[in-house]
Amino acid sequence: NLTQRLSRVVKTMRGQARLTEANTQDMLREVRMALLEADVALPVVRDFVARVRERALGQDVVGSLNPGQALVGVVHKELTALMGGDQSAEAGELSLAAQPPAVILMAGLQGAGKTTTTGKLAKWLSEGGHVQHGRKTGKKKVLVVSADVYRPAAIEQLRTVAAQVHVDFLPSDTTQKPEDIARAALDHAKRHHYEVLIVDTAGRLGVDEAMMREIRALYDLLDPVETLFVVDAMQGQDAVNVAKAFADALPLTGVVLTKLDGDARGGAALSVRHVTGKPLKFVGISEKLDGLEPFHPERMAQRVLGMGDIVSLVEQAQKNVDIAEAQKLAAKLKSGNRFDLNDFREQLQQVKKMGDMGSLLEKLPAQFAQAANQLQGGQAEKQLRRTEGILNSMTPAERAKPELLKASRKRRIAAGSGVPVQEVNRLLAQFEQMQGMMKQMKKGGMAKMMRAMGG
Ligand code: GDP
Ligand code: MG
Repeated sequence: NLTQRLSRVVKTMRGQARLTEANTQDMLREVRMALLEADVALPVVRDFVARVRERALGQDVVGSLNPGQALVGVVHKELTALMGGDQSAEAGELSLAAQPPAVILMAGLQGAGKTTTTGKLAKWLSEGGHVQHGRKTGKKKVLVVSADVYRPAAIEQLRTVAAQVHVDFLPSDTTQKPEDIARAALDHAKRHHYEVLIVDTAGRLGVDEAMMREIRALYDLLDPVETLFVVDAMQGQDAVNVAKAFADALPLTGVVLTKLDGDARGGAALSVRHVTGKPLKFVGISEKLDGLEPFHPERMAQRVLGMGDIVSLVEQAQKNVDIAEAQKLAAKLKSGNRFDLNDFREQLQQVKKMGDMGSLLEKLPAQFAQAANQLQGGQAEKQLRRTEGILNSMTPAERAKPELLKASRKRRIAAGSGVPVQEVNRLLAQFEQMQGMMKQMKKGGMAKMMRAMGG
């Protein structure tokens, strides 16, 4: 799944300085595979990957995260947007604020789940389950009617469903024209003060013009506040064409994705959202009539891509570096070696690689963080480079034994790294302070130190 694919890439990209065409390409290949495996339609995948590439290459990775993490961040953001994460307020909300009756028109292919969803929505609304702008809208007086005149069983099915959810059903029959049924239902609903009228319609096995003309005529006549496109999550790749045909023929207001209780990977959700640009409002999670839920973009993203929590993946990647370092340091201290400037330099390199100073400082042991904090002073990155320059100008022997650093050597190092001698002195003072802390920690025992390091 996507999480596994991305964590692999994050690992291989660790240590690379920036997002390039080449390493971005590797990562995007994994993203593309994961999406296709989840049954997202190819044109949608192409669009998505192109958008991620554009964002990623425009990103300044240096000074933020390592490239793998940065790219995961971009993928995560784009996925959430594609799922409609920005529109989560509309999940499960219907606009019923019309002159009653508020008409809901159900559209979709045969077998998509229109009749079942009509029953589910009728139950949801009549029992007062509906929430809008954070408030329950109360129990609604609901009428349902079937305009599916091609299959007598379809009308009977709605009658049964309506009885099960204790909602009024207006009989219709196969000799009537769909438009006449709609007109009669509207009239009946007005006269009997129904607040909501749900109109179930016929569907074909594939998209055809006659069906589109028919539902368009119903739309014009009913002037619905909600026109819901019902689509089977199992549809996979096909969903995109069907969704496009319906979106072109009708001003849809939302999508209901059914049969998510099956083993559909649900890539249809991404495709449909992308093609229609309409919010997914509900999902069907059972053939039973209480099997309806408001759509949650995050949950859906998780399901479709098995993506776990990508944000925590980014955090995990950072923590792993920390833990590995802490363990190395602990092992070194345990073996009786003292913390020297070589260790300090390594720590700094780690800091630089990870980039994000703020969050790193939080993860370091408190004492170390304090010392590192003194390096920050607003210009963390620059200061970091200077410090590194000083350390690089020392010989390994000098770093291992800082006592060697007498005045002449300090002058050489200062000249070599292009800083005043005072800065070399400042660094050494800081280091001494840190070394003292390390000794302290060692005395406190390994367990305590590992705790302090978050290990
Ligand atoms: P329509 O032709 O669009 O009206 O589709 P139906 O409402 O008749 O549903 C077709 C089949 O899908 C029926 O067997 C339903 O029980 C089943 N169905 C509909 N929604 C769901 C769902 O969310 N989960 C499951 N498991 N089955 C569903
Ligand atoms: Mg039906």
